[in-house]
Amino acid sequence: MQSEKATALFGVIEARRDDLIALTQELVRIPTINPPGDHYLEICEYLKRRLESSGFATELVRGEGTPGDSDRYPRWNIVARRDGRHSGECVHFNSHTDVVEVGHGWSKDPFAGTLEDGKIFGRGTCDMKGGLAASIIAAEAFIETCPDYAGAIEISGTADEETGGYGGVAYLAERGYFSPDRVQHVIIPEPLQKDRICLGHRGVWWAEIETHGEIAHGSMPFLGDCAVRHMGAVLTEMETSLFPALATRSTDMPVVPEGARQSTLNINSFHGGQDENPPEFTGFPSPCVPDSARMVIDRRFLIEEDFQDVQQEIHTLLERVKSQRETFSYDIRDLHHVIPTMTDKTAPIVQSTAKAIKSVLGRDAEYVVSPGTYDQKHIDRIGRLKNCIAYGPGLLELAHKPDEYIGVDDMLDSAKVMGLCLIDLLTDAGEQGEKL
Ligand SMILES: [Zn+2]
Repeated sequence: MQSEKATALFGVIEARRDDLIALTQELVRIPTINPPGDHYLEICEYLKRRLESSGFATELVRGEGTPGDSDRYPRWNIVARRDGRHSGECVHFNSHTDVVEVGHGWSKDPFAGTLEDGKIFGRGTCDMKGGLAASIIAAEAFIETCPDYAGAIEISGTADEETGGYGGVAYLAERGYFSPDRVQHVIIPEPLQKDRICLGHRGVWWAEIETHGEIAHGSMPFLGDCAVRHMGAVLTEMETSLFPALATRSTDMPVVPEGARQSTLNINSFHGGQDENPPEFTGFPSPCVPDSARMVIDRRFLIEEDFQDVQQEIHTLLERVKSQRETFSYDIRDLHHVIPTMTDKTAPIVQSTAKAIKSVLGRDAEYVVSPGTYDQKHIDRIGRLKNCIAYGPGLLELAHKPDEYIGVDDMLDSAKVMGLCLIDLLTDAGEQGEKL
C-alpha cells in the first residue's frame, strides 16, 4: 500500500518523463570536460535558471585558488536551496557537473544526447548528469506534491570531482556548506544502480618513489650506477613479498566488484632514464646510464587497515631493498591520501533510501562500497557529516566508457526513490511512520 502522497508523487514524476529527457540532454550538450574544466560557468547558469524557476534561491561559488582554477578555467559551483514552510531538516543532493575526456571508440556523438531505445547516449549521461537530472525532477515533483513541507531541499552542482573535488565539494565543505548544522542528509546521485545504496569507499594513498643512480656512458655502465636496476629491485621485492601479503587482507566492507574486497596496489606510472623524445623528434636516444627512476604507486586500503601501517609497510620494503644493495638510495614523496569511510546502515538517510527502494522496486536494497573514492570523502572529513550516501541511476561499468548511456526508466525509478526520501524526511507522512 502506497500513501496518497507517494501515489501523487509517482504520477507527477511519470508525467515529467519528457522534461527529464530534455533536461538530461541539455546538461549533456554542455561539454564540461575536465581536465581542463570547461564550461563550468555555463552549466551553473543553466542550472540557476532551471532551479530558480522552481523556487530555489541559488548561489554561484567559484573555487578560487584551488588546483586548476584560473581566469581561463574558473572552477564554478552552484548551490541551490529551497526552504519549506516550517523548520526542519535539510536534504542535500550533490552532483558533480564535470565529465572526463571523450576517448576513442564512440559510435554516437558524445555531446548530442541522442535518445534511442529508451537510452540517452553521451559523455556524462551515466556519470552523472542523468543522476543530477533525476534529483532535480524528484525535488520539483516533491515540491508540487507536498508544498507544505518542513525543512529544506538543497541541490548542488559541483566542479572537479573527476580530478579530486578540491575546487568543488572540498571548497564548499571548507566554507561550511556541508556542516551538520546546515545540512542533515546528503545523497550523491552517482551511478551506483537504482537498487543499490553506496555507503562509502576504500582509502587511497598515492606516493612517488624515486631511486637514484649515477649517469655514465652507456658503453661503460660499470662507471655509473643504474637507477632503473635499483627500481627493478623494488619491483621484485613487491612481487615476492608485498603483493602476496596484500592479497591475504580482506574487508568486511561490501565493496563491488568483489575483487576489490582486498588491499590492492597499482603502479600508476614508471619512468627511468632520459625523458622520452618529443613525437616530432626523429633521431635516436643517447647512450646514458639512468641516474633516476620514478614510480607512482596507488595503494587502495581497507577500513580495517591503519593509514600509518600502510605507509610503514612501503617504507619497510624500501629499507629492506636498501640493506641488500650497497649503493641503493631513494626518496619517497606523499602525493595524496584519503581515509576510508563507510556510513552506518542505521543512519537515517540509509534507512529512508532503503525503504524507498523497497517501495518503488519491490525488492530489498543492496548495500555496496565503492572501490575508488568520490566526493563523500570531503563531506565526511571536512564537512563532518556522517549521514551521506551515494545513490543514483546508471551502471557504474559504463562510466568513462565510449557510448556511455543512461536508461530513462532507470532515471524515473530513482527519481521516485529520491522523491520518497523527501516525503519520508521532510513531511508528517514520514515522521508518523506512514507506510511509503
Ligand atoms: Zn562520477
